[in-house]
Amino acid sequence: MLFFDIFENSARWILSGLAFLFLAFSTFYVRKLKVGHGLLLLLGGLALVFATSLLQSYTGFFYEHAVSAQVLTLAEMLLVLTSAVLLIMASSWILMNTALNVNVLFAFVSVGLVLILYAIFIANDANIVGNIRQILPIIGMTYVFLSLVSRSHIWRCPGEMTAALAIAGLIVLMIWPMLFVEKYAWYVPVDLIVLLGFSYYLLYQQELRYKILRQNEVRRRMSQNIENIIKSSPFPIIISRLSDDTLLMANNNAIKLFGLTEEQLPRYHFKDFLVDADNRKILTERLEKSKEVHDFEILVKTATGNTPFWLLASVNIVDYNNDVVLYSAFQDITARKRRESMLQSQADRDPLTSVFNRRYFENKAEEKISQAHLQKESFAVLMLDADLFKNINDAYGHKTGDKVLMELAAICERSLRPEDMVARYGGEEFVVFLSKVTPEIAEMVANRLRESISNAVVYSDDGRPVRFTVSIGVAPSGIADDINLMIKMADDAMYQAKENGRNRVELYDNNTENNKKTIKPVHQNKTRMIHPAFSQEDNQEISLLDGIETNHMVED
Ligand code: GH3
Ligand code: MG
Ligand code: MG
Repeated sequence: MLFFDIFENSARWILSGLAFLFLAFSTFYVRKLKVGHGLLLLLGGLALVFATSLLQSYTGFFYEHAVSAQVLTLAEMLLVLTSAVLLIMASSWILMNTALNVNVLFAFVSVGLVLILYAIFIANDANIVGNIRQILPIIGMTYVFLSLVSRSHIWRCPGEMTAALAIAGLIVLMIWPMLFVEKYAWYVPVDLIVLLGFSYYLLYQQELRYKILRQNEVRRRMSQNIENIIKSSPFPIIISRLSDDTLLMANNNAIKLFGLTEEQLPRYHFKDFLVDADNRKILTERLEKSKEVHDFEILVKTATGNTPFWLLASVNIVDYNNDVVLYSAFQDITARKRRESMLQSQADRDPLTSVFNRRYFENKAEEKISQAHLQKESFAVLMLDADLFKNINDAYGHKTGDKVLMELAAICERSLRPEDMVARYGGEEFVVFLSKVTPEIAEMVANRLRESISNAVVYSDDGRPVRFTVSIGVAPSGIADDINLMIKMADDAMYQAKENGRNRVELYDNNTENNKKTIKPVHQNKTRMIHPAFSQEDNQEISLLDGIETNHMVED
């Protein structure tokens, strides 16, 4: 006799009811698991087995209310058949994670119905009915048991193992009375039902663990995919941690570009490659506004700090291996940048002498003047004009004239400080902007320049030495600070220098304007000049006054 028999009938039902409540609660708790559907159906199946037992215990009550024995048995058998069907459906969910095939279901129900109808109405044999009543739930339970134990990972999984044990226990309890007890004595074994409920808790735990493992696996695969994509990209790509800028990954193109080896990678930071560290800050600010930045032009250097080069960067903030990272893809735009700056310098410079052109000079000088005003500094503008240049052209040819102009420009550039600026203003005229100079210093600089030029020599194609001089007008700041006016003033002073004999420097003063009116064309001046452009050795008696155009001299 089983130990549950020590309970009184009603106490047994109450305990069984509680056990079922526990099972129902556990099933509800794990309904979202993969096997959740199966467990719900299992609960339904067990509940019907339980209901059948209840019905049996109260047959007397139904007889009293004049329900025929056959109808009662039929109802009972249909309950038993339904419970078996539910159990088989449960096993399909547990085993294959899908609903039971409709054909199998239909076949099982048909066979069951035929059997029941035969036993009750044709054979009308209480023994056969009794056996069917016991066999059907056993078939259902066995299905559930087999499906549980045939799950591939059952041996590693305490939840499913415990559930299988509980079901096996229930099956044994169903078979037991058939073998050893004459009278049908099915009751709900409380402890096995509780055990089944407990197994769900274990199942839940296991499912959680699997979920984490699966998520990690998915993440690992995603990272692996990203890495593969990055590695095969034709563009250099790096991945750096957002928080501390450490390099986490770089493809071969990036490693080559930055002159790294794979082992050096973790020792470097993104900002180590930036020539201007402020660029990193600008990038961060732009990334704070939107999560991606495109067409970001940065000047970078290699790990060894070699010649800087230009990159066009596209930067995104993404998740990578549990880190928030910057995904940066680059395009080398050094060649483009070089072309751009060449074009820019072509646009700003005089093609013959390579000094700035007039347009650039005027714009830049305006900037320099406003800057000088802010700093309260004085400055000056010089106008240089080659003396009797026409004669050089005439005597040595245009090509030599060009050479002289190039040398003139080169001397100016060599002699001046980086903050000064030289430009070719027109044919044989040059302008100079001197920053931070008093009028006296400006005049001194101009004289030094004049002297250097007068000492220079270039050679004509046929090897003759050619010397040349300039006349310089100096316009100091303070009288007029508009660049055009200052150029005009310097020009006036330069005419004064021509008038006073050439190869001279004149500082503009207010009288210069008056003096200018007295300037006479040089050819009216009878003094014959010996120009250094004509060397003594050549001993050429070319009059420097020959062919002088008077356009400079007589402006009015
Ligand atoms: P002055 O001392 O009065 O300035 O006499 P100048 O001969 O220098 O002045 P003028 O204005 O009469 O002549 C300037 C000459 O410069 C005329 C022009 O042919 C020459 N010239 C202008 N641009 C170039 C150039 O790019 N190359 C060469 N070789 N000559 C140039
Ligand atoms: Mg001139
Ligand atoms: Mg001239």
